[in-house]
Amino acid sequence: MGISKELDGPFPWREAPVADYAVIGDPISHSRSPQMHNAAYQALGLTLRYTSVHVPRGEVTEALDHLKGLGYKGINVTVPHKEEVIDWLGDCDAFASRVRSVNTIRMADKFGFNTDAPAFMETLRLLNLPPGTPTLVLGAGGSSRAIATALSEDGYPLHIWNRTPGKARALVKELDLEDALAIDTPDIRGAGLIVNATSASLAGERLPINWDDAIPGAVAYDVMYGAALNSFLDEASLGGVRAVDGLALLVMQGALAFEFWVKKNAPHEVMWEAVR
Ligand code: NDP
Repeated sequence: MGISKELDGPFPWREAPVADYAVIGDPISHSRSPQMHNAAYQALGLTLRYTSVHVPRGEVTEALDHLKGLGYKGINVTVPHKEEVIDWLGDCDAFASRVRSVNTIRMADKFGFNTDAPAFMETLRLLNLPPGTPTLVLGAGGSSRAIATALSEDGYPLHIWNRTPGKARALVKELDLEDALAIDTPDIRGAGLIVNATSASLAGERLPINWDDAIPGAVAYDVMYGAALNSFLDEASLGGVRAVDGLALLVMQGALAFEFWVKKNAPHEVMWEAVR
């Protein structure tokens, strides 16, 4: 028997169904996490259910209490709540605590992890972008803090730009990132990797980048996936730059969350097929 797609959500948090796992965020309707995790459970014969839940800013604590009361075992967290959820948690791992960004929660003991950073670094290995590649990170939100820190720890020289420049400067200073500089304009000259970790593509908004400045062989990587229109990737392609979206990142971070929660090897191929 097939899985009912109606249970994939999204549901307003007060109307969330009884299920095992969910992703929370605002917006949330774009998320392919339910189809990816449910396909994995089905492939392994697990009677588990993953859904998506809309949680507006400022309602995270109340919503998580409610979902815990409904018996949810684990929660993924997306834009814009990766920092706000930390207030609800009892504890989180050292990396998530340092970067103040949690995307995976074990509900039983209210413990938070970050699977975005290791997943992102794994996708770079697949793209053959080794440490030492000069990198521009766009954004200073929850995902940027995790990704920029992982890049810096692995030896990628960084420039970091954010629409609100003070947040990029604070990121470099507070996280004490090595070989990293906050810059006031998104200047891509010299960058072998340009990571868009803003939510601009999610809102259909463009970033002020001059793609004529790209160096040969540069890669434009938008952590967002599945947007019908993605001006960052479209403009990069037009400028002759290799464009990569966040679908592989979705699968990698989802697989790590799956393995953490379910304690079985994640069926990567099944998850990949489910989101394509
Ligand atoms: P946050 O809300 O924490 O941060 C948003 C960031 O985007 C801020 O730096 C903000 O800048 C910037 N921003 C928003 N709108 C614009 C705009 N129009 N122009 C320039 N900058 C803008 O979000 P997250 O860090 O959690 O998520 C960011 C994106 O990454 C989301 O689209 C999310 O879906 C995606 N993501 C995808 C993953 C995947 O699995 N593929 C994994 C992780 C993230 P300011 O400070 O000025 O407000």
